[in-house]
Amino acid sequence: MNRQSLDELKQQIPLLGYLQAHDWHPARPLSRGRWMGLCPLHEDHKPSFLVDSSKSLFYCYGCGRGGDVIRFAELYHQVKFPQALALLQQWRGLAPLLHEAASFYRMQLHRHGEAVAYLRQRGVRSPELIEHMRIGYAPGGCLRGWLTRLGHPLPALRQAGLVTSAGYDAYLHRIVFPLEANLYGRSISTSAPPHRFLPGAKGGLYSWEQAQSYPEVIVVEGLFDYAVLWEAGFRNVTCSLGTHLNALQFQQLCDAPRTVYLAFDSDGNHSGQNAAQWMSRRLRTRGVAALRVALPDGQDPNSFFVEGGDAHQFQRLLEAARP
Ligand SMILES: [Zn+2]
Repeated sequence: MNRQSLDELKQQIPLLGYLQAHDWHPARPLSRGRWMGLCPLHEDHKPSFLVDSSKSLFYCYGCGRGGDVIRFAELYHQVKFPQALALLQQWRGLAPLLHEAASFYRMQLHRHGEAVAYLRQRGVRSPELIEHMRIGYAPGGCLRGWLTRLGHPLPALRQAGLVTSAGYDAYLHRIVFPLEANLYGRSISTSAPPHRFLPGAKGGLYSWEQAQSYPEVIVVEGLFDYAVLWEAGFRNVTCSLGTHLNALQFQQLCDAPRTVYLAFDSDGNHSGQNAAQWMSRRLRTRGVAALRVALPDGQDPNSFFVEGGDAHQFQRLLEAARP
């Protein structure tokens, strides 16, 4: 890549926008488009990360690192310069592509009775919820044609993971939930692996922008858990997409004083409960009040509501939560 295309890439990806897409929030403004915030590159407790949005440069007074958006991508994703470039190029093209794919899947949802029936069975009924989560359906076998007609080249679809190397739609018979920079697909057929993501990071906590303003936040493992809680009126809910929180998700929970309720699955092999216990210890070392919600044996928040539990009963589980 020559000097000119490097400059072009940097121009097309303003550092501040890239940071914000990775859930960085300025804590306070300085003069002339300069911002301070917590450093996303090290465990930061008071804002030491300076961003100059007009020059698209950063510097951290804590860990002493700084540079442009490419340097940031190297450090943040822990990759070398060529991989950082590849990630940024991919990122530049990926957002519009995923947006188109998600819109297409949303159009398909109500054309496929089996998808709507599956959602009902998982407690997802209201149009408001489907709209809020932008839920769609991948019937398989038609996304590729749609996107190529819109002008997206096949190699880009392959690179995004939307189409397999053999040229077929990657998602087949899956309920699709758009994430920050990914699409989660839940199979409605029992013969396929239940959970799939596109290649690339799962990103930060789900719908964190909304949840983070509450002093008490409920964290669940799965998007269907999120869905039933939202439907039951809980707006202070977020989802970690699995029991393992990545560094960004963990950092998000620690970025302000709050109480965190961990409502992981109460499954037979205790993996959800073990993960919750470990997470609550880690959060408490960072000064976050973390409490574990004990669901009835064998249940997750989704089955709790699907099998007749209501908001009042769930509230009682929150009140009974322990460290
Ligand atoms: Zn730092």
